[in-house]
Amino acid sequence: MKPMRIDLHTHSNCSDGTDNPADLIAKAAQAGLDVVALTDHDTTVGWAPAMAAAEHHAIHLVRGMEISTRNQGQGQHLLGYGFDPQRPALIEMLRRGNEGREGRIPAILERLRAHGIDLDEAAVWAGAKADGSIGRPHIADVMVREGHVADRGAAFTEYLVPGAKAYVERYAPDIIEAIGVIADAGGVTVIAHPRGRNSTVPLKRFDELKAAGLNGIEVDHQEHGVEARAELRQIATELDLVITGSSDHHGTAKLDHDLGCNTTAQDQYERLMAGVRHGPL
Ligand code: AMP
Ligand code: MN
Ligand code: MN
Ligand code: MN
Repeated sequence: MKPMRIDLHTHSNCSDGTDNPADLIAKAAQAGLDVVALTDHDTTVGWAPAMAAAEHHAIHLVRGMEISTRNQGQGQHLLGYGFDPQRPALIEMLRRGNEGREGRIPAILERLRAHGIDLDEAAVWAGAKADGSIGRPHIADVMVREGHVADRGAAFTEYLVPGAKAYVERYAPDIIEAIGVIADAGGVTVIAHPRGRNSTVPLKRFDELKAAGLNGIEVDHQEHGVEARAELRQIATELDLVITGSSDHHGTAKLDHDLGCNTTAQDQYERLMAGVRHGPL
């Protein structure tokens, strides 16, 4: 039998991807994936349209989310899967996170103004879906469109990353708390790109995360080089954590992140999903 092709990390325009959830799922099916997870930043609003599309295209959808958390003072993304989105503690955690996201927009625009870049706030909001989540990429897109920078990457490097000209800190839940909230909602968690350009999780931190309930490590990711992947694979094996691989697809907003460019082995996927504790979400 042909091995299943599984991609556990993608974004729609409900966060900072460019495809609507239905189109994203259609493209995932066209790309030959058998399983795709929708993991928008801090929102599950894409789940319903993605489910409908997944039925239509005969592809299995894993309902997920990429949560912005704080790990020892650094921003760190955490992937959650298969949880019940109605849990009050989860709703409250996301409400606070999204309040932080939204409050940061005018603060960043203020800083950009001090550097001679005067963006229309309404144009930034217009790039995000009203019921989805907004972030720095939506500011970056307006900067690109108005010719202030060449692309999203340049906007981040010069203005939007920690330490850059217009960076503004925001609230995000502690990663230990977030792992617990997802576990309490019946779901499982995978630490996202822990050797990525914006996050480096120290080696000795992984056992603390595992003790808190972490289920897996995203090993195969475009921001990880050969050595990082080997190191993370070894850490996961030693700690008996699930190993995942994924595209982190953002539509046309991120080059070199095509659907299925990294995939998760079927046995690892099955082990991860076996941890979901409240039915076949
Ligand atoms: P935010 O949601 O506001 O925290 O913005 C983080 C998002 O911006 C990430 O999920 C990436 O999609 C994107 N991003 C972060 N760093 C960069 C970068 N250097 N170049 C392009 N996009 C980036
Ligand atoms: Mn993103
Ligand atoms: Mn991420
Ligand atoms: Mn992502």
